[in-house]
Amino acid sequence: MLEGVQTKLLIGGAWVDGQAGATILVENPYDGSILAHVAEAREADVDLAVEAATAAFPAWRAMAAHDRGRLLLKLADRIEADTQNLARLEAMDTGHPIRDCLALDVPRTVLCFRYFGGMADKMEGSVVPVDAGFLNYVEREPIGVVGAIVPWNFPLMFTSWKLGPALAAGNTVVIKPSEITPLSTLRIGELAQEVGFPPGVLNIVTGYGHTAGQRIAEHPGIGKVAFTGSTNTGRRIVEASAGNLKKVQLELGGKGPNIVFPDADLAAAVGGAAFAIFHNQGQACIAGSRLMLHEDIAEAFLERFVALAKSVRLGDPLDPNTEMGPLTSRLHQQRVLDFVGVARDEGGEVLCGGDTLAGDAGCFVQPTIVRAQPHHRVAQEEVFGPFVTVLTFRDDEEALSIANGTAYGLGAGLWTRDITRAHRFARQVHAGMVWINCYKRVHPGSPFGGVGQSGYGREMGFEAMREYTQPKSVWVNVDAALPPFYRR
Ligand code: NAD
Repeated sequence: MLEGVQTKLLIGGAWVDGQAGATILVENPYDGSILAHVAEAREADVDLAVEAATAAFPAWRAMAAHDRGRLLLKLADRIEADTQNLARLEAMDTGHPIRDCLALDVPRTVLCFRYFGGMADKMEGSVVPVDAGFLNYVEREPIGVVGAIVPWNFPLMFTSWKLGPALAAGNTVVIKPSEITPLSTLRIGELAQEVGFPPGVLNIVTGYGHTAGQRIAEHPGIGKVAFTGSTNTGRRIVEASAGNLKKVQLELGGKGPNIVFPDADLAAAVGGAAFAIFHNQGQACIAGSRLMLHEDIAEAFLERFVALAKSVRLGDPLDPNTEMGPLTSRLHQQRVLDFVGVARDEGGEVLCGGDTLAGDAGCFVQPTIVRAQPHHRVAQEEVFGPFVTVLTFRDDEEALSIANGTAYGLGAGLWTRDITRAHRFARQVHAGMVWINCYKRVHPGSPFGGVGQSGYGREMGFEAMREYTQPKSVWVNVDAALPPFYRR
């Protein structure tokens, strides 16, 4: 058990047990040790959290935007000061290598809160040139209580992606982390309290999806639900939200094509393709999980790529030399390994990996490279692990048709030195984000989200601020002569 970590629910500014008194076991996926028993929030606890968020909303909304921003900026500073602690917590709870937590997860979380802290007083309304004699202005209002549901793959970062814009825009929030990885979100709650967020503005309910999550999605007092997770759960959220027709934002799965053209810088593309699929053990919605190689360079590329994959250092997430940790749960490890069997059954060729780590009890899966055909399940379904499906193509037309041949449309990568081809593809590929000669770049200013079954709505930047507000159009008769209708 970890000493001193927060395990209770944050409701109305107080840390409380769940009303049913139940707890959720949180395990370390590296060694199976118990990290914590956190309070389990059920429907009644969600209801209390929504009540608290509703009560806190009028004052939070009325607060000057720069004061809300200042609290977010203070939170960013406080998280930065807590970097070592948060990185360790995230590494133990998720299996992310500490190296990545220190270089990516925590700094990106800080950057996100800082960006939206600065954004709070930058969101402007507009004045619309309407009929003579009238003034029409449009204000952006907060929605009210936002329900946020986040998955287990980047729990700390996704907490900031939801809280940053929602709070900056003047909403109050009830957030539910994944039952598998709740610890870093709870720590953010503690730090938010330390820097002075008013009670009820941020509420944290740690609970299961089918109970607490479902209640958030259907709650009549919640004006918007922002969800990151699987496409199937996304569908359930949409159905549950229909009762009060709440606004829904969905960041769902992906099957990212990462396309290497024959004129690419191969060394850069090999490294980029490895980062695209092996970072965070491939547990990323934007992972480059379909590696598409032009047939002229496929063999040369694969020789280097397979050698690189075999050299990836798997091990204890807390060891600074570890490049890849265990998957985040035992169940998920099995799911990824099952896909190796699926690939073989369909006639795919496993070029490396495909197994656990010999002699290690952690939830490891070796970096796995599988050659398959575009219609195979492993080229269509999200595996969400260190598992990349290699496909080859003959020309640009075929590349585009394969790239656009899944139900998803989240991220896509292109490796080429030909700028015409790069921009043409960027325009034609079905994706919310395209990376040219790089992969998986994100920034709080740049819109993040997908098309098709990868969801709708966008996180980050001004787009996120629009998602977390609604326009109100106000008409003023300055000196217009009203039409003669109904005059007596
Ligand atoms: P999941 O859908 O199982 O769970 C996500 C969250 O939803 C968890 O907090 C879970 O408790 C909750 N949940 C589960 N059932 C629910 C229900 N019926 N009602 C309300 N909430 C419910 O997903 P996961 O396995 O935790 O995460 C992996 C998935 O997330 C992958 O498919 C991945 O692609 C996706 N993802 C998408 C993005 C993106 O931005 N597009 C980012 C990361 C992960």
